[in-house]
Amino acid sequence: MKNLVILGGGYGGMRLLNKLTDQHFPEDIHVTLVDRVPYHCLKTEFYALAAGSISDHAVRVAFPKHERISYKYGEVSSIDLEKKRILFTQDEPLTYDELVIGLGCEDNHHNIPGAAEYTYSIQSIDKSRSTYQALNNLGHGKVVAIIGGGLSGIELASELIEGRPDLDIRLYDRNDKILSSFPTKLSNYVESWFVEHNVTLVHNSNITRIEPNLLYNHDEVIPCDAIVWTAGIQPVEPVRNMPVEKDKGNKIVLTKQHTIPGYPDVFVVGDCAALGHAPSAQLAEGQAEQIYQVLLKKWANEPIPESFPPIKLKGILGSLGKKHGFGLMAERPITGRMARVLKSGVLWMYKYHNG
Ligand SMILES: Cc1cc2nc3c(=O)[nH]c(=O)nc-3n(C[C@H](O)[C@H](O)[C@H](O)COP(=O)(O)OP(=O)(O)OC[C@H]3O[C@@H](n4cnc5c(N)ncnc54)[C@H](O)[C@@H]3O)c2cc1C
Repeated sequence: MKNLVILGGGYGGMRLLNKLTDQHFPEDIHVTLVDRVPYHCLKTEFYALAAGSISDHAVRVAFPKHERISYKYGEVSSIDLEKKRILFTQDEPLTYDELVIGLGCEDNHHNIPGAAEYTYSIQSIDKSRSTYQALNNLGHGKVVAIIGGGLSGIELASELIEGRPDLDIRLYDRNDKILSSFPTKLSNYVESWFVEHNVTLVHNSNITRIEPNLLYNHDEVIPCDAIVWTAGIQPVEPVRNMPVEKDKGNKIVLTKQHTIPGYPDVFVVGDCAALGHAPSAQLAEGQAEQIYQVLLKKWANEPIPESFPPIKLKGILGSLGKKHGFGLMAERPITGRMARVLKSGVLWMYKYHNG
């Protein structure tokens, strides 16, 4: 029996698991899925979990069951490519014949003093739960600083103000306009939504230091009651520590078949992989489909495709609370209720297809 180990049951790992369970795989292959949590997490909804507008149950999906798929729950500490084994913080090492690394990403605090220690996060389910607790225990008029005006910062700020209009929410962004790389129509729409809902936008910010309940923006020291970090991501530590070629964002450079050069049995999927696009759930899923094709060919001893067509990305959708949204579909900006309905529809379909 050959053992395929999949590290991480996120969007990439889950899509691969579903392909394997739905479409069958050879009798002599056993699959082991490793994750720190015993369910698939809907990471794209962590902003709502942290804001307190959806339940914990709503972001969890059960892993599929199959007689030749087993699950191991533990914290991966490192990946030894030479000895073909996975090391854990507590458990015994696990060996593999083939490996798919899909451990996702965590916050990048850009070496800003105090940022790792004194900010809350929405990058993992346990951290989002802590953020939920901290934000929802705040009293009337307390100040919440959200650092980073990208998609997740915007979604968190809007979801939070809708449920807690009594909070003083400030969104710090380093550009002179929010969503500055998007069409002006979108950034104007999102900015006016925030103005209308009394969220303070702090443009051209440069956070230089964070202390307990204190934020340093340029030379100004701002007292805050909670600070949430949404200003950058990087692959998780066990991946950052791997002695293989990475891009500027510390993501692993891959062959056209999604393997690590020199290691034809080791694939990397999702946020850990250098794919030339901004990381996203849809990118991780598209890549997982291609990895599945390579595995089938390998197992059948057939030639592996020399390359794949570019992964099709359908667009970007963001929410502004429960009723409004924004997005880019086929390069065209969409705003308002329709964007929000589309986003809810995508989530509904995802949950439906994942049982
Ligand atoms: C608030 C927010 C909103 C987003 N919105 C969108 C969106 O609208 N559309 C979109 O396409 N993308 C969105 N994204 C990005 C998307 O969530 C990621 O790109 C996607 O989750 C990447 O999938 P992945 O499989 O690489 O990793 P993940 O989905 O992050 O899965 C990684 C898995 O690895 C496990 N893991 C990590 N480290 C360890 C370890 N050391 N040991 C054991 N297990 C471990 C985790 O528990 C997790 O299950 C959003 C992200 C955030 C934070």
